[in-house]
Amino acid sequence: MNKKTIRDVDLKGKRVLMRVDFNVPLNDSLEITDDTRIQAALPSINAVLAQGASLVLMSHFDRPKGKVVPSMSLKPVATYLGKLIPNEVKMAPATVGPEVTAMVEALKPGQVLVLENTRFQPQEEGKGCTNEEQMAFTQELASYGDVYVNDAFGSAHRAHASTALVCDFMDTCVAGFLMEKELEYLISAVEAPKRPFVAIIGGAKVSGKLEVLQSLIKKVDAILIGGGMAYTFLKAQGHTIGKSLCEDELLDTAREILAAAQKAGVKILLPTDNVIADNFSNDANTQTVGQDIADGWMALDIGPESTKAYAAEIAKAKTVVWNGPMGCFEMSKFAAGTMGVCQAVADTDCVSIIGGGDSVSAVNQSGLADKMSHISTGGGASLELLEGKALPGVIALDDK
Ligand code: AMP
Repeated sequence: MNKKTIRDVDLKGKRVLMRVDFNVPLNDSLEITDDTRIQAALPSINAVLAQGASLVLMSHFDRPKGKVVPSMSLKPVATYLGKLIPNEVKMAPATVGPEVTAMVEALKPGQVLVLENTRFQPQEEGKGCTNEEQMAFTQELASYGDVYVNDAFGSAHRAHASTALVCDFMDTCVAGFLMEKELEYLISAVEAPKRPFVAIIGGAKVSGKLEVLQSLIKKVDAILIGGGMAYTFLKAQGHTIGKSLCEDELLDTAREILAAAQKAGVKILLPTDNVIADNFSNDANTQTVGQDIADGWMALDIGPESTKAYAAEIAKAKTVVWNGPMGCFEMSKFAAGTMGVCQAVADTDCVSIIGGGDSVSAVNQSGLADKMSHISTGGGASLELLEGKALPGVIALDDK
């Protein structure tokens, strides 16, 4: 990676402004139900504090759309962080403003201040405000630190005030350790993969993964397609798909993708058998059929024969990237395909990179997470990297 990191700067006595991704799931009692993202930011947080710096943390939380929504406050996260580290963690009453500025200026080395949800302000995303208002907000954020650290890989594909624009007003901008690790895995997978390089692409729709499919054709040796998107491909090949998910407007695109893959010598595997249901529920009647699905039925998982074929391809791989489940794994009747693929990835000693919220939940559900080389904290950001796009939050950082 050609970007500077925390390791490249002297932080003693400095005030560090760090963008983290604290967008963790909360239950109705505002308790954190999965602290993975907070844990993932700890190495950077601890490294900054150990150097004798003070630390201002900022993050978005959920989608308050530029308004203050009390249930989307970062307060529970600040309290939780205070229990994880020995340092004092204070919570700011807002994202910016005179009161916050006073708290920032009063910070002592080793103390932490968590700013309120950056998306409480419309200027964060630049929606519903003028450019001047966004710039004023960004400059105020920038005034809160001597050095900027971006450790929010999950938001690095957004050109928001706290993720990228703030760097226009700060002299020193570096990557945190989580950002560094994510980039190292994903960039080396894309730029210098050990071959065979196999991509497993699933999830609901072709439209969500179109660009990644088009880009992967230029890079991988095989693409295994599963999930709802597989049925647009099967219909494009002339199969009947009943009431399975389908994007009719993308049938030509699906045919183009298959043709491009054939031309490039990239093997594409589509499900040869499918678990179909008479309705979208775990109580549905089900059966396993081939590639043609009768009227009134919907395919909700790849079948055992497909899972076996996908597993055989995965067993040969030296690099695997996986984004999107093979079926509706949230329902036990339709989880076998996704779990089978998960087991196959766990059984190889290849470099395995899992990205995308649903594939990550599936891997966690399988209990095989520790068998994967890298589980990305950023679904959208990891997809954009695989698509070959540069991430605004990374471009903005200082080069080595
Ligand atoms: P995505 O966000 O595009 O990765 O899609 C993930 C979602 O796709 C999960 O919630 C799955 O339940 C859903 N999904 C996977 N396979 C199917 C399918 N065959 N039909 C409908 N939805 C599916």
